Amino acid sequence: MIKILLLLAGVWLIYSLLKKYSRSLEKDEPAPPAQIEEDMVRCVQCGVHLPRSEALLSRDEFFCCEEHRRLRHPD
Ligand SMILES: [Zn+2]
Repeated sequence: MIKILLLLAGVWLIYSLLKKYSRSLEKDEPAPPAQIEEDMVRCVQCGVHLPRSEALLSRDEFFCCEEHRRLRHPD
């Protein structure tokens, strides 16, 4: 009886492995690159690019962080 259970377990294991394998073959094509939907801006102080929503705007200039904003406009 145990032999049958082991056999069934083995068959199930092979079956699931084959299933996994065939599924990985189907997904062989590379995923499309993530689209940049948001506008990217450049920090005028250090030149790093970052999304507009994360940038700091000061006197029509973008900055990556408060520190760089203060370096440019220390007031
Ligand atoms: Zn910066």
